[in-house]
Amino acid sequence: MPEAKIIDGKAFAAGLRARVGEAVAELKAAHDLTPGLAVVLVGENPASAIYVRNKNQQTAEAGMNSFEHKLPAETTQDALLALVGRLNADPKVHGILVQLPLPDRIADRAVIDALDPDKDVDGFHVINAGRLMTTAKGSQPPLVPCTPLGCLMMLKAELGDLSGRRAVVVGRSNIVGKPMAQLLLQESCTVTIAHSRTRDLPAVCREADILVAAVGRPKMVQGDWIKPGAVVIDVGINRIEAEGGKTRLVGDVDTEAAKAVAGAITPVPGGVGPMTIACLLANTVTAACRQHGLEPPGF
Ligand code: NDP
Repeated sequence: MPEAKIIDGKAFAAGLRARVGEAVAELKAAHDLTPGLAVVLVGENPASAIYVRNKNQQTAEAGMNSFEHKLPAETTQDALLALVGRLNADPKVHGILVQLPLPDRIADRAVIDALDPDKDVDGFHVINAGRLMTTAKGSQPPLVPCTPLGCLMMLKAELGDLSGRRAVVVGRSNIVGKPMAQLLLQESCTVTIAHSRTRDLPAVCREADILVAAVGRPKMVQGDWIKPGAVVIDVGINRIEAEGGKTRLVGDVDTEAAKAVAGAITPVPGGVGPMTIACLLANTVTAACRQHGLEPPGF
């Protein structure tokens, strides 16, 4: 059997960002509308600061307005909610992203649910989670969480019609596992959601034509858990120790072992990660169009 195709998430994301850039240029020219994304960062988490910097840079590169709000770690929940209220009311802001995790004193859920659902470009608001659950099969729900949306785009590019395929999603978080499973159901896959209490996980995974690992455990999914020819999407981002006292990133799948069995696989890094920010930009354009009564471009 030939070695698995490596799905190039970086190239895929560059293509999506280019399409977003074209859509932005068209919105500016035809409707004098510049989509705007506000990103809110509370505290000094270094990984979050890097994500936020990348988001702002890529937003600006796509021709959109980028509004950055950096708040000190001691910010109160009330102060953050007041900022969210101002951004909800600001007509230049079409998308709002509050970078998680928030400091322990602040309840993530209270802040997310204070967002205007139509500006919730992360798709985490309870209204958007509900819309995802209730959208008719085959149609696109409004604002979908960016990581699973990026995974779905890559799967469709790889496989075309997903209908009837067996999909297994390992992980049931609200930000990845559950929305991923819901999107695959929307595409008429037969979906299993596995988690830490799943019995005989390797056997469950071996049933999958599409295997999505969103667990947060380095290289947990072994080569012999994979059905020959399956498409494997590795969402995991795990930093492990490497030689010379350094660290490196690995996914939730043992990529080298998986390559001998799978039909195609996303690498870590360079797979799902780059798609997440590109989908955030796409969601911001979608939100801006909806807020102005325009048909969003299909990305
Ligand atoms: P969570 O920790 O919120 O969820 C992990 C899920 O994995 C839980 O549902 C848990 O089950 C399940 N799990 C844990 N251990 C096992 C096990 N031994 N066997 C089976 N299932 C298990 O993580 P997230 O969903 O937030 O993130 C998952 C991974 O994806 C992380 O590595 C994260 O860094 C990465 N990530 C990557 C993104 C990207 O842009 N590429 C974006 C977001 C996340 P249970 O519910 O039973 O506890």
